[in-house]
Amino acid sequence: MEIIKATSTKIKDVDFENLSFGAIFTDHLFECDFINGEWQTPTIKPYAPFLVDPSLKVFHYGQAIFEGMKGYKDENNDIWLFRPEENFKRFNKSAERMAMPEVPEEVYMNGLVELLRIDRDWLQKGKNHSMYIRPFMIGTGTGVIANPSNNYKFMIIMSPVKSYYAGEVKVIIAEHFSRAANGGIGYAKAAGNYAGQFYPTNLANKEGFQQIIWTDDATHTKLEEAGTMNVFFRINNTLITAPVSERILDGVTRKSLLDLAKRNGMDVEIRSVLVDELVEAAKNGSLQEIFGAGTAAVISPISGFSYKDTYYELPKNENPWSLQLKEELTNIQHKVSEDHFGWTFKV
Ligand code: PMP
Repeated sequence: MEIIKATSTKIKDVDFENLSFGAIFTDHLFECDFINGEWQTPTIKPYAPFLVDPSLKVFHYGQAIFEGMKGYKDENNDIWLFRPEENFKRFNKSAERMAMPEVPEEVYMNGLVELLRIDRDWLQKGKNHSMYIRPFMIGTGTGVIANPSNNYKFMIIMSPVKSYYAGEVKVIIAEHFSRAANGGIGYAKAAGNYAGQFYPTNLANKEGFQQIIWTDDATHTKLEEAGTMNVFFRINNTLITAPVSERILDGVTRKSLLDLAKRNGMDVEIRSVLVDELVEAAKNGSLQEIFGAGTAAVISPISGFSYKDTYYELPKNENPWSLQLKEELTNIQHKVSEDHFGWTFKV
């Protein structure tokens, strides 16, 4: 790996107690180009803009994928990643679906580790802080013919973040728009999946809802994801989430919460929840909680949902499962409590 160190640091200008999510980046980035069928020498270099040709495939046909993961610093100043191999595997699943080359494991993992070591001062200690890590890959071949790029750029950039609280989250259940379709790209972290969500989410925002609960595209009867998070329901003291599918992203937080909940002795079911079932449960009082789960917010409790112009407010819980599970998961991630599952990876 080639390493070109920055000659100065931007860290002095950063107020680590007042960070907007994903808005500032560390001094360095990791980069590896794929040119004519071969991965080139990986490089760490100063974070900076770069010049590209306007005919780049990524601009015209959207060959772009990414991951979202976090690094944590414990009380001994050691840095940890959480289940990084899961993000690595998912990245290459996304790459395959978008007709992009798979990134070799050593390129991805060594890039992550070296970048975190070089910019280690940007990661603050303790449970309020983490490093949001964004590996991504774009098609860098030129020419506007609609076929896959010959060349690609894989990069990792990092942004220090504070623990994230979304505020009150009210959601609306999708009756018309879809995030993903059978045979589509919903299971991939492909940029276009997110672009396609912005417009319906803007409409929902105008009506006073922060997020959309996506339903299956064919019938709009099954609840699938909440915004850019997997979604959980607690009905009659059972925690329920949909099985992952070609429409639903295989979230690392989702699968970790399922294991944690089972270890706690909570009843867990992996099955689709129908919109009708949710409405019925809200009406008869058996619906206790809904929450979203994902790397950025970890868990985002939902305070109520709207369906066909009726708003259903959720009950207030004394000791919600969402907050119990969030506390347990973040304690493992930050090395505050023991990691029985072997999920943490020392950098
Ligand atoms: N669903 C979607 C559509 C997402 O973008 C994310 C965020 N990566 C998730 C679910 C949650 O996945 P994870 O827990 O791996 O962050």
